[in-house]
Amino acid sequence: MNLTELEQTLVLIKPDALKNSLTGYVLSQLSEFHTALRFAGAKIVQVSQMLAEEHYAEHRGKGFYPSLIEYIRGNVHYPNEPDKRRVVAFVYQGPGAIQKIRDIAGPTNPHNARDNKPGCIRALGTIVPIKDEAGNFLGDRMDNLIHASANLGDAEREIKLWFRPVDIPPLMRLYATVKCQEHYYLKNNQLLTSYEQGSLLLVAPGDIVWQSDLEALQLLHKGLPSPCSIQTVAAKYLINESTEND
Ligand code: AMP
Repeated sequence: MNLTELEQTLVLIKPDALKNSLTGYVLSQLSEFHTALRFAGAKIVQVSQMLAEEHYAEHRGKGFYPSLIEYIRGNVHYPNEPDKRRVVAFVYQGPGAIQKIRDIAGPTNPHNARDNKPGCIRALGTIVPIKDEAGNFLGDRMDNLIHASANLGDAEREIKLWFRPVDIPPLMRLYATVKCQEHYYLKNNQLLTSYEQGSLLLVAPGDIVWQSDLEALQLLHKGLPSPCSIQTVAAKYLINESTEND
């Protein structure tokens, strides 16, 4: 099978879609019947601060960034119900997966979506003004129900951020994997290869991991420059590990 057949994209059902009970609607719109795409992975994720910041790294520093992080973590839609704060993450696979899903999702801005593509998923979204504590207008947050990867590079980065290889059936995996030979732990944003009190296990010998993650861990442990940070690797291996509302 060629790579075009295996193309993958990340879809996140965001907290506003969950709050408004639109999950079934979204999944129907994206179904194999409509798109000829198949699920390669699915999981419910309580989004940590680290994962949210990694996912939206390209927006760091922008006016809407803090509000965007609160939104994807579910703090906006479930302010008093931390147990309901989650997103549903999917990997869809098949020819043209990225563009097909983006077409059905529609424009990022829900107002544009309603004006230019009635019937798309994001036409059901909302724009929320962001204000500082004094009530001054800072910008808009776009509550647009789903995330969909923008291109092949983003899809690879995002799928590897949200999914471990073992979340995806072996014959559906698109990116190289390896069997880990070492322990790696995280403590105070430092990488360790042996356990210390308070450290969190990221990977252990025998674990199947993305090859790029293991290469990054090996470089970072030697103090060498790496294509991605400790947080980028750690965010995924710690998904749903902690009950803390960090
Ligand atoms: P993108 O990386 O373009 O998929 O954007 C990720 C999310 O950030 C979008 O789904 C919006 O919720 C939000 N976003 C992107 N651009 C803006 C913007 N200019 N103003 C407000 N929110 C935005």
